[in-house]
Amino acid sequence: MALTEAQLLATVPTKLYIAGKWVDGHGAGQIAVEDPATGKTLVEIANADHTDALAALTAADDAAASWAKVAPRERAEILRRTFDLVRERAEDYATLISLEMGKPIAEARGEVTYGNEFLRWFSEEAVRISGRYGISPEGTGRMLVTSRPVGPVFAITPWNFPLAMATRKIGPALAAGCTVVIKPAELTPLTTLLLVKTFEEAGLPAGVINVITTSESAATSAPVIADSRLRKITFTGSTQVGVKLLEQSAKNVLRSSMELGGNAPFIVFEDADLEAAVEGAMLAKMRNIGQACTAANRFIIHESVADEFAVRMAERMQAMPLGRGVDPNTKIGPVINQKARTNLQRLVDASITEGATLVTGGESGDGDGYFFKPTVLLDVKRGSTILNEEIFGPIAPITRFSSEAEAIALANDTVYGLVSYAFTQDLKRGLRVIESLDTGMTGLNTGLVSNAAAPFGGVKQSGLGREGGPEGINEYLETKYVMTPDPSLKD
Ligand code: NAD
Repeated sequence: MALTEAQLLATVPTKLYIAGKWVDGHGAGQIAVEDPATGKTLVEIANADHTDALAALTAADDAAASWAKVAPRERAEILRRTFDLVRERAEDYATLISLEMGKPIAEARGEVTYGNEFLRWFSEEAVRISGRYGISPEGTGRMLVTSRPVGPVFAITPWNFPLAMATRKIGPALAAGCTVVIKPAELTPLTTLLLVKTFEEAGLPAGVINVITTSESAATSAPVIADSRLRKITFTGSTQVGVKLLEQSAKNVLRSSMELGGNAPFIVFEDADLEAAVEGAMLAKMRNIGQACTAANRFIIHESVADEFAVRMAERMQAMPLGRGVDPNTKIGPVINQKARTNLQRLVDASITEGATLVTGGESGDGDGYFFKPTVLLDVKRGSTILNEEIFGPIAPITRFSSEAEAIALANDTVYGLVSYAFTQDLKRGLRVIESLDTGMTGLNTGLVSNAAAPFGGVKQSGLGREGGPEGINEYLETKYVMTPDPSLKD
């Protein structure tokens, strides 16, 4: 039988997990985790300071050598057991994600399936870490290329996908034989705490994962990054914070994976299937209440279909009820906090001042939570503020183009390069366009690209490295090359 919200919250740990023990933090007070749909506190959790963070690193470092020696099959089985346990409790996970982050329950279920898949995928990859053995070109020696775990990893995750952002890092790290200190976002830490408890239940040895929650991210994290026992940082979050972490990481020449912000263009050509394009646009824009790094941020629509596209988007958006995510009727939850909502209003107001037309929305929704009405802006002027920033909310700004070259130039006119979307029924054009778009990923005639089996990541200021797919585990492996003379080769 499904747990009530109170019963579910009572199963979530509220302490730090260090060296296999749930412990109190030494930071000031507790962290109140809020329901963004009501503004009320769900639960209070431990607040770590830098001494706790360093204790977590010590635990990860102490466990590193033994975990690296655990047979790949055994590492795989622990990941697989955790996957099975998360699947058994999928409804609890979905409810928890929805409570702390606000997304509609149907989307939270989708995140559980997607996020958990990284544990299954990397359980399968753990036993496929391969190498090479060959003869040197001169024919005198043997060349062996193998890989080994990077070492202790510090993972920092954002609030928008509380499960998937954690599993995308923990899955490959554990599969590769690395130990982890994870710091979830202070706004949505509960899902990571439950996940770590699930790993404990699956038999993960003490110290292999450690979790710290803190209200002082910078002060708590910096000493860990400066410590030479740390060998890798993996971060998902804003480009602004990513740049700071890269600067700090440079001192220790840390391996770095950075999944940063996006400013995705969504191009619709005149030959596109418009209904499919609107469907894709709704998915790419409204998923996660527009708060995804992959969210379509700039709609670049051929001038002949822009008006119709705007009307159809507006109609679809107006039919989406706002509400608390756990209410099954809700199609749009709140944005994460008041600061986010104020920022959305600023972007709408600036767009209108800069010459755009408001088609629908453009203001806060009713209720105590941080609701913002889904918004369509038409004829957003080139150079407008909203086109240069990550919106992170349910606002669709539309600009028109007349030629393919113009569409590509507009799409690439950003410092970001995470994902792009293009809709056309002309295959030749489709292939031309995907080659021209400066992004790590492209959705051709689809508004959804994320998949555990695919390499997720961006170029330019959207990041470094890839998560997921066969590529994902390489971020946690160092290449080791061995040369040895082999006299038998001359026999
Ligand atoms: P954020 O950068 O504010 O915070 C991310 C994490 O970093 C949080 O855990 C936060 O506590 C921590 N943090 C902040 N400052 C820090 C510091 N100085 N030192 C150490 N840790 C620090 O981002 P956010 O608001 O949580 O998430 C939204 C951002 O994440 C958006 O820019 C979005 O595009 C990006 N994102 C990217 C991807 C991707 O895969 N590329 C996926 C999801 C989200």
